[in-house]
Parts: sequence; C-alpha cells; structure tokens
Amino acid sequence: MTQARAFKPEEYYIEQEPYYEPIGKEIELFEAAYQHQLPVLLKGPTGCGKTRFIEYMAWRLKRPLITVSCHDDLTASDLVGRFLIHGGNTVWVDGALARAVRHGAICYLDEIVEARKDTTVVIHPLADDRRVLPMDKLGELLTCPPEFCLALSYNPGYQSVLKELKQSTRQRFVALEFDYPNPDVERKILLAETGISATIADKLVKFAQMTRNLKGNGLDEGASTRLLVHCAILIVAGIEPMIACRSAIAQALTDDTEMLKAIVELSSALF
Ligand code: ADP
Repeated sequence: MTQARAFKPEEYYIEQEPYYEPIGKEIELFEAAYQHQLPVLLKGPTGCGKTRFIEYMAWRLKRPLITVSCHDDLTASDLVGRFLIHGGNTVWVDGALARAVRHGAICYLDEIVEARKDTTVVIHPLADDRRVLPMDKLGELLTCPPEFCLALSYNPGYQSVLKELKQSTRQRFVALEFDYPNPDVERKILLAETGISATIADKLVKFAQMTRNLKGNGLDEGASTRLLVHCAILIVAGIEPMIACRSAIAQALTDDTEMLKAIVELSSALF
C-alpha cells in the first residue's frame, strides 16, 4: 500500500528559536512531563501565549510540531487517517495524529473542546500509559516512540457545559496553567514583539488590565496579550493610539454598542 502524498516531517521542525517569555515554571514542567512521556494540557485564556509556548518547546526539544486546530467537523479520520482513491488505487493516508506518532512529533490539538466528543475519544489510549493509537480501519496498532508527545490546549473561561472537557479526558493530562503575563513581563513582550516605546507599552498594559476587570461584567474575556500586540503593531505603523485601541482591542472584544463605548472611554483616559 502506498501513501497518496509523501509527508515530510522535516517541514515541521522549528528552525529559529521562537521568542518566548516564561511566565512561571512552565518550561521545566513541560520538560519533566516530556521526559517521562506524560501528555500535557495547556490551560488558559485565548491569546496568552500557549501556542507560542508549544512552538518554543518544540524548538527546544528539537521535535517536529504538528498542530491541529480543533472544530466541530473534525472527525476521528482526520486524526487517525483514511483510505482515499488515488490514481485508480485505494491508498491509506495517515491523519495528523498518526503522522505525529510515526515521526515522534509533538502533536498539539488546539482548542480541544471544539472537537466532537467521539473525536476526543481517539486520544484516550494515547494519553494513558498504553501510549498506542488504534487504527481500526487499517487493522494496525501504532505504538508511540518515546519522543512522541500529545499536548492539548483548553480555555476553561467559557463557562459552558458544552465546552467543558470531560473528566475521562482531562484526568489523563498534566495541566500547565497559563494566564496573562504580569505587567512587567507583558510590557517586555510588547517591546520585544513590536518595538513600541516603553511609555505606550505601559499604557497598553494598563488598558488591558482595565478590560480584564470587566470580565463577567459585560465582557466574556478581557484584552489578551495577542490583542495588545496587534494594537502596538498598528501604533508603530503610525495609527493613532485611540484608533488602534478601538480597532485592535475594543472591536475585537465586543459588538455591544454600550460596551464598546465604555471600552473606548477607558482608552481615552490613558491616551
Ligand atoms: P494562545 O495560543 O494562548 O491563544 P498565542 O500563543 O497565539 O496565544 O499568543 C498570542 C501572541 O501573544 C503571540 O503571538 C505573542 O506575540 C504574544 N505572547 C503571549 N504570551 C507570550 C509570551 N509568554 N512570550 C512571548 N510572546 C507572547
């Protein structure tokens, strides 16, 4: 049986060191979990550095990184593999997870709660001490090499039963907690990522904190580090800070006119 398209693991290595500012002991924890073949769950709000962290760890551990953005149409076959008709022949094509297992990669399932429940079940035998991927359609049982690592990301802040991770899934993982960096670290990230002035970086960090205080009072989430980076990029490109805050932050956080007005007022107190 042939593969329809050759998969090139070398394309999944991260050559350049990604810029990552640690926010706690997450690097040591991940390394210890990795050395002992424990799967990891990166918990935290959107835009707080989980993806950047996993890229950094893949670079540091010199492993290919295979990322899957989960959504509700993601099927078990997308992860495990499927038969396809190719040039008149039936060929087997590995899914993302099977590729990661075969090549000892880090497989990062981003926003795992977006995937259907029957899809998450395929990761169970991989995430306990069996470390196997049953490929029922192919009649094969893949055993993970020690280099393989399964990492999930999960935002516990949505507070919806539908978006909760099942106990049977979450209890297989070492959880690394992420949150917005403290003000000094967040300022450092803005300077490093965008080259913005320290004065404006400080104001943006303050502005983000004000919006974070509105969580639960009209906002589902406050401004993430990602939004601050976007806003700083616009300012460095010559956009007026107030306009940048409105487009990159306020509009990204809400569609509610009253709330938008309130957030814009907060920014006008700073800029
Ligand atoms: P998440 O995966 O948690 O949604 P990302 O990793 O995509 O968030 O982070 C969004 C952006 O914020 C990154 O592209 C980067 O610019 C910045 N960022 C957030 N946290 C950090 C950090 N600790 N070190 C460096 N950059 C960070």
